[in-house]
Amino acid sequence: MPPSSGQRDSLLKDLGLARAPQPSYSQLLDQLKAGKVKELLLSPSNREVSVTYADGSRTRVPVFSNDQVLLRTAQEARVPLTVRDDRQDQATASLVSNGLLLLLLFGGLALLLRRSAQVANRAMGFGRSKARVAEPEASVAVRFEDVAGIKEAKEELQEVVTFLKEPERFTAVGARIPKGVLLVGPPGTGKTLLAKAIAGEAGVPFFSMAASEFVELFVGVGASRVRDLFRQAKEKAPCIIFIDEIDAVGRQRGAGIGGGNDEREQTLNQLLTEMDGFAENSGVILLAATNRPDVLDAALMRPGRFDRRIHVDLPDRKGREEILAVHARSRPLDPEVCLADWASRTPGFSGADLSNLLNEAAILTARRERASIDDLAISDALERITMGLTAAPLQDSAKKRLIAYHEIGHALITTLLPQADDLDKVTLLPRAGGIGGFARTMPDEEVLDSGLISKAYLEARMVMAMGGRAAELVVFGPSEITQGASSDLEQVSRIAREMVTRYGFSSLGPLSLEGDGAEVFLGRDWLRSEPHHSQKTGNRIDAQVQQLARTALNEAVALLQPRRDLMDLLVNQLIEQETIEGSAFRALVESFEQSQKTTVCSI
Ligand code: ADP
Repeated sequence: MPPSSGQRDSLLKDLGLARAPQPSYSQLLDQLKAGKVKELLLSPSNREVSVTYADGSRTRVPVFSNDQVLLRTAQEARVPLTVRDDRQDQATASLVSNGLLLLLLFGGLALLLRRSAQVANRAMGFGRSKARVAEPEASVAVRFEDVAGIKEAKEELQEVVTFLKEPERFTAVGARIPKGVLLVGPPGTGKTLLAKAIAGEAGVPFFSMAASEFVELFVGVGASRVRDLFRQAKEKAPCIIFIDEIDAVGRQRGAGIGGGNDEREQTLNQLLTEMDGFAENSGVILLAATNRPDVLDAALMRPGRFDRRIHVDLPDRKGREEILAVHARSRPLDPEVCLADWASRTPGFSGADLSNLLNEAAILTARRERASIDDLAISDALERITMGLTAAPLQDSAKKRLIAYHEIGHALITTLLPQADDLDKVTLLPRAGGIGGFARTMPDEEVLDSGLISKAYLEARMVMAMGGRAAELVVFGPSEITQGASSDLEQVSRIAREMVTRYGFSSLGPLSLEGDGAEVFLGRDWLRSEPHHSQKTGNRIDAQVQQLARTALNEAVALLQPRRDLMDLLVNQLIEQETIEGSAFRALVESFEQSQKTTVCSI
């Protein structure tokens, strides 16, 4: 049972802990005089007195400093008064607080020192190579069968695999194996994949690094990274080092205006030294990739360094089919899908583009909750990749009609001209980026593969490009033409200029009047950017380009003008169906032309 409040009070009194109500100063004096107070404890620094009453209870009362009245009254009442010396307590308190402050200061200082030591350590570690290493078998799961469509490159590299696996076969007959192999080709053609496949086939470690990773803000870091990379590789020989985008460090030295980039040059020098340093047949093979071999320093290419150059080109139709087959292995394809068809509909696509195409198709299939990838998904994916995302269909009928005539102009001309590419489809479904519709052609595979383009083909391309503007002229008149043809005009100007200045396809004669149109390479090309012809010839070039463009437009108008009825019919169909496939379009044109002929004959 808990004690009652009376019991508790007497207990506290006995212990001397009971608290009496705090009296005022004058009440305290009265209590002193009345003999109620047993003793007083004065603490001058706190300006208070602690009072103990006769009944044992206690309280505290604030007093004046140096209070003479209290002293006198206590003396008169014969109440014992003790004065407490607080100075000791204060000194201890200030000592503790000062000590704490010092501790805090030292702690902060130590933290700062540790931080800066860490930064310094990191700075020292800059020189370490950041190469990603893939151990044999464990991570290099790529094999030659995963790389499709680049047969020649694969055959050439087979030799490197054999060397890594059985070096004795070569050393026995005194053969010198190349130390460096340069893979040259456009992005996404599978250069990295090939390098990985070599490591995978030979079962050796694979060190890979992008050349841009060598170069840091600090001079000398790149060189030490190169040293570190080769040191690591030598420890693990036989192995493969793959340096991507070697042109980032391997550019010609001293090609800049007003001195070169010291850091890059030092890195390149170190690379050259390391390549000379590792003994022949040491088992380290350096593979590097670039798509700009023209800017590489000549020292990199001399025998004993990157003495072997392998071209990895864009795949041809058969190659594309094989690449599609490789990427279809891991994806459920509808049995209806014919990869050969898709290979012929994707000219100019690289391996990476084709892999992306199937991936996009797979995403669309998942979104549509279908079990397998069908032709429609691949077709939509292709459109998405080549033309961008679809936008909301056009509502404005006047604008829609104008775009329809423009696109039908292109489509009709490409169908009418025998030298032009075949029409793949014409559509009015707009795309993001302000494209109202488009007429897409399928480049001739033969032309693409042979790389030989005839004058007639280029002229047909220009007439086809002018088809949109010509249709606007024929249907809406010269004052209603629109800026929608601006990119067509750009294309025509480019083709016409190249015909005149590079291919000798004009009346100026068989002359090459300008460079190859390659990008300016550092200062080297700026410094000799003057044209290869006189001012007078320049004027004649301009006149010829204008002449070619005008002829193309006139020819397009001449083809469309007598076919106004056919255009109206096709435009109505296109507005109704939004998309007309190439084969259906050709059938429509053919039947119309046929009916015209029979009408003419019957008259
Ligand atoms: P590069 O190094 O030439 O720029 P990558 O080797 O990085 O190109 O290719 C990127 C991706 O494209 C590869 O991971 C692969 O999926 C695909 N790819 C490219 N070329 C091929 C090919 N010939 N066969 C199969 N897949 C390819």
